[in-house]
Amino acid sequence: MSAKIIDGKAVSDSIRAELRAEVARMKGTKGLVPGLAVIIVGNDPASRVYVDSKKRACAEIGIYSEEHALPEKTTQAELLNLIRKLNNDPKIHGILCQVPLPKHLDEKEVLNAIDPRKDVDGFHPVNVGKMMVGEKAFLPCTPHGVMELIKRTGIALQGKQAVVVGRSNIVGKPVAIMLLSENATVTICHSRTADLPGECRKADVLVVAVGKKEMVKGGWIKPGAVVIDVGVNREEGSKKLYGDVEYEAAKEVAGYITPVPGGVGPMTIAMLMKNTVEAANMGR
Ligand code: NDP
Repeated sequence: MSAKIIDGKAVSDSIRAELRAEVARMKGTKGLVPGLAVIIVGNDPASRVYVDSKKRACAEIGIYSEEHALPEKTTQAELLNLIRKLNNDPKIHGILCQVPLPKHLDEKEVLNAIDPRKDVDGFHPVNVGKMMVGEKAFLPCTPHGVMELIKRTGIALQGKQAVVVGRSNIVGKPVAIMLLSENATVTICHSRTADLPGECRKADVLVVAVGKKEMVKGGWIKPGAVVIDVGVNREEGSKKLYGDVEYEAAKEVAGYITPVPGGVGPMTIAMLMKNTVEAANMGR
């Protein structure tokens, strides 16, 4: 039997609609308009696409957004100055610095300079630490989106075998912590894992965030598993996107599966918007 397709676009649309209503309420009752500042340095075309879609999402939901587009040659001091200004700007509740930054800039120092209370990307060590110890924190958007999609299958994570392939700070590690906090038994795999197919075959819930086109084969999927494919891979010269999972084969075995595109991708921006609205509500 073919897997149920988890429609990330539909889920993100409903989250965005809920947020639109919430923002209208905030404006009406508290005169509060959530504000997001988006910083982009240089001319990376993929970053430009991401920034534009974040701005569009803000406009649609009623969040005030301002873009700070800085030239490639911006110095570390100039960028830190801007962040300090935004940290102190009362109409800005969330600050997002689009990465990757040009090579001459120290990304870690820049992200650490953002006030943790405005760190809507959830990358600041204070928020990462709070998440680790189970305190309320801004959760990083993509892993948070992954968890939302799993929740909406209605499958309880408690006691399930969850396998995460990939251990980046942006996706793999935080997803693993979030699965653990839902009482799944979690295995984290990476490029040095001895028997990746064997580990994947044990997974009731399999989250793949590797960045290699269709690396996880259909034959590695446990029948009935929930498969969340975070990968976004493009072939040279083609616009078509591929996930990290061999989708056509996997969907014949899995119970639930996310497509690429239209699975995890749309969730990232929805969760960023959610964090921004939460940040605005926090101080009031
Ligand atoms: P990274 O490159 O930072 O991490 C990749 C991880 O995959 C590493 O932990 C690496 O292991 C592991 N890996 C690489 N090769 C193998 C292998 N052969 N077997 C097992 N593990 C392997 O990537 P990200 O986490 O940032 O992103 C992963 C994917 O998710 C990408 O396709 C990216 O485009 C996509 N993505 C999508 C988002 C969205 O939809 N909004 C947002 C963020 C990412 P090791 O640590 O040992 O090197």
